[in-house]
Amino acid sequence: MLVYAGSYPEPARCTVNEQSKYRKLPSVDVVLDQLAAPHHVAVQAARAAIEEARQEVAAGRPAPTVAQVVAKARLALAGDERRRLQRVINATGILLHTNLGRAPLGPQQLEAVRAVASGYSNLEFDLGTGKRGSRYTHTRAAICRLTGAESALVVNNNAAAVLLMLSALCRGKEVIISRGELIEIGGEFRIPDVMRNAGVTLVEVGTTNRTHPSDYAGAIGPRTAAIFKVHPSNYKMIGFTKDVPGRELGRLAANNGLLFLHDLGSGNLEASPGSPFRHEPTILDALTDGADLVTFSGDKLLGGPQAGVIAGKTTLIDQLERDPWLRALRVDKMTLAALGATLELYLMDLSSNIPIARMAHMSLHDLEARAKALASAIDDPDAGRKASAVAVTGAAGGGALPGEGFDSWAVAVECEHLSAQAIAEALRLGDPPVIARIENDRLLLDLRTIASEDDSLVARLAGRVFSP
Ligand SMILES: *Cc1c(COP(=O)(O)O)cnc(C)c1O
Repeated sequence: MLVYAGSYPEPARCTVNEQSKYRKLPSVDVVLDQLAAPHHVAVQAARAAIEEARQEVAAGRPAPTVAQVVAKARLALAGDERRRLQRVINATGILLHTNLGRAPLGPQQLEAVRAVASGYSNLEFDLGTGKRGSRYTHTRAAICRLTGAESALVVNNNAAAVLLMLSALCRGKEVIISRGELIEIGGEFRIPDVMRNAGVTLVEVGTTNRTHPSDYAGAIGPRTAAIFKVHPSNYKMIGFTKDVPGRELGRLAANNGLLFLHDLGSGNLEASPGSPFRHEPTILDALTDGADLVTFSGDKLLGGPQAGVIAGKTTLIDQLERDPWLRALRVDKMTLAALGATLELYLMDLSSNIPIARMAHMSLHDLEARAKALASAIDDPDAGRKASAVAVTGAAGGGALPGEGFDSWAVAVECEHLSAQAIAEALRLGDPPVIARIENDRLLLDLRTIASEDDSLVARLAGRVFSP
């Protein structure tokens, strides 16, 4: 029996002879029987695969077999499944991997989201007066206490923070920036483009590798609104280089009645000598150096949700809060809840409960022990699989600490007859997917970014990949 799929036209004008060519094709029901997927999804895949087979026949080629049609439908379903947003295991060793969603959230951060999002909240309601309130007040005090800022505002991400700051305060005027800081962060976020989109005139000073205080001073004119400093993020210049420290720019701006704005990229709160982030400028340092406003991301070194924080002078923050653009860039309640919980963990000195901080601080001793245990669980010479623990150097990622390696331990996996790429692909197509790193043609599973409770799952997934 031929079952035509909904909208596919019945070949009404075919002769009986021509119609019989299609009789070899399976019905939707026959294909459906062999697909393990929710009905509505499977029906679509089955119909599409049958239609493709029909077109083969119509073009005069031999009719695909039932097995071939089913295989086509399965391929389409697998593609759908891979496109679904889902959890993956990050074994790349890159802590803040933008493509893998940057900072994971811990139990306290998630509980805060659950509590606020599962019911109503005082998002824009003042519990003291019973009147309308502002969504921007909830996290303000915590940001100020942690960074030393007078006031603060949270928006959708740091790109939005930069855009709002420049647009609200400098539109139609000139903003001075060093040529060494005209960076691209990735995902088409280019500082010169953002500045133009904010309606400011870019005044580039210095050269790619060297910018002096006199370059800035010489560029100040009647239309200058601000000096803008940008953290070079994901790239580092070495050799014959010079940039002007924030403190000098702060002084220059103040002496000329200009604003000094500083995009820090990754907001670093930690300054302790033992911190792996000790070479990254802190927010407090940037404000002390005289920045009128600083901006940073919520989901980089801070370890919170995607958000952009603007911190600094109250008068300026008030101005941003009145800007019509803010509505388009505004942050939602789940983000505010997660960010609030993140800040609270820092305030209570409980940052070890923030996954990014915990992973960054995990000792090499612990990582080595986990790598050795995982290697011995994966290693199986009889199955043609060799695994060994190796000392490696990872990266912070997310534009933080460019050029600085993060020492770590990994499991190197080798398989007979399989390239490192082939092993990586098999792991990537697992459930859940494991994203590994390839270095010098060797497949590595870096323990620093794998949650320790996932070690045994990674061992199981790696074992499954290679078993026949
Ligand atoms: C990452 C980064 C941004 C963009 O931040 P998002 O939160 O990803 O929007 C902007 N500026 C700098 C310097 C950065 O490092």
